[in-house]
Amino acid sequence: MVAKGDMLYTWTNNADIAKSAECGGAVTGLLHFALENKMVDGVLAVKKGVDLYDAVPVVITDPEELNKTAGSLHTGTLLLSKLVATYLEDMKDKKIAMAVKGCDLMGLIELARRDAVNLDNILLIGLNCGGTVSPVTARKMIKEKFGINPDDVVKEEIDKGQFIVITKDGEHKGISIDDLEEEDYGRRSNCRRCLYKVPREADLACGNWGVIGDKAGRATFVEVCSDKGSDLMAKAMAAGAIATEPANPKGIEIRGKVEGAMKKLGQKWRDRDFSALNEDLWGTIERETGRCVKCYSCIDQCPVCFTDPEQFQKDSRMIRRGGLPVDPMFHLRRFAHISDTCVNCGQCEELCPMEIPLALFSHAIRTEGDLLFEPKLGKAPYTN
Ligand code: FAD
Ligand code: SF4
Ligand code: SF4
Repeated sequence: MVAKGDMLYTWTNNADIAKSAECGGAVTGLLHFALENKMVDGVLAVKKGVDLYDAVPVVITDPEELNKTAGSLHTGTLLLSKLVATYLEDMKDKKIAMAVKGCDLMGLIELARRDAVNLDNILLIGLNCGGTVSPVTARKMIKEKFGINPDDVVKEEIDKGQFIVITKDGEHKGISIDDLEEEDYGRRSNCRRCLYKVPREADLACGNWGVIGDKAGRATFVEVCSDKGSDLMAKAMAAGAIATEPANPKGIEIRGKVEGAMKKLGQKWRDRDFSALNEDLWGTIERETGRCVKCYSCIDQCPVCFTDPEQFQKDSRMIRRGGLPVDPMFHLRRFAHISDTCVNCGQCEELCPMEIPLALFSHAIRTEGDLLFEPKLGKAPYTN
């Protein structure tokens, strides 16, 4: 029997998956089981592209192909949510499974509220998330701070507060993320502010925090979050695809403490980023967005923005078409229609060629709005 609320150390019994998985291979093992047994028609996951700084989304319909998606890519800053709504139109009425970080999940929840995706058709395997590092920052940081050629790195990990790289010659080197971030390396700024560390709105929440003793590094910590999740776990266990044991109580306590510490750190970054911004909010927004070249990347990947770029400029005498610099109302209009549901996924900022801190602005406005309205309206279904 597996029930909602259970916490289990879990590992795959598939030797090939176990070899390439991040921890116990429970995530890939469960995705494999769901696909093989036709519980879903396809899996949307992430695989390594040209190198380990290049994370590529992939739809898989052959279970044997899933092996190449095992492992965590911490420099994989992509967001899966809008891909479902934009590119998987032909799978709209089919069932899919996805491994999702907190921001992927928050984006999907917002898309479902707009009827752009149907969550009943999606099996959600959540991944705990301490954060991601931009591929550009990662290469720079590995060269400048680690003194290692980024092309010689064969594996990167985030463990016990350190960013760790392993080279093709077997050299291991780790540096504390706190120290890296003091020098503006390390995680993306939206990830530093993120408070959604364990995605409990998914069907399962999987991670490595709290796996201790002889299972450390060899099992995945799985928290069962829904009946759909317990059904998948029970069927996969019965078929021998995965094995489980109850999580060690000490491990559960440690996981809770790490989650709490990460949230505290996220709050510290919010206080720091937002108070600096509040010194001159509108002046900063006007100055920074003045560099905009109207490439529309911020609109394109934002999971809560569904505006047609052409339409965006129409019908306003405050947004003149065809010229640069952009009129300030271009961005103010964007903030006005997304900032009540911005999930702080960082995509707008990540993709902006002019390096405008767009996620900081919309996240600050969202957070301010939450503080004002939550006493009346209650909390959002997740903590972004
Ligand atoms: P595997 O069987 O190896 O499967 C991993 C799955 O993750 C695959 O489906 C793959 O497609 C997917 N994936 C890989 N990279 C990405 C990405 N960038 N975006 C979306 N999906 C991706 N756990 C913690 O307990 N604490 C943490 O701080 C933490 N931080 C993480 C940060 C990132 C960016 C990621 C991707 C994962 C993080 N995890 C964290 C989860 C942990 O690394 C493992 O993914 C989890 O324990 C499952 O292990 P596994 O062996 O069962 O996964
Ligand atoms: Fe992870 Fe949050 Fe960053 Fe998304 S925004 S990658 S969930 S830390
Ligand atoms: Fe993500 Fe930016 Fe959209 Fe907010 S505004 S949800 S950070 S893309």
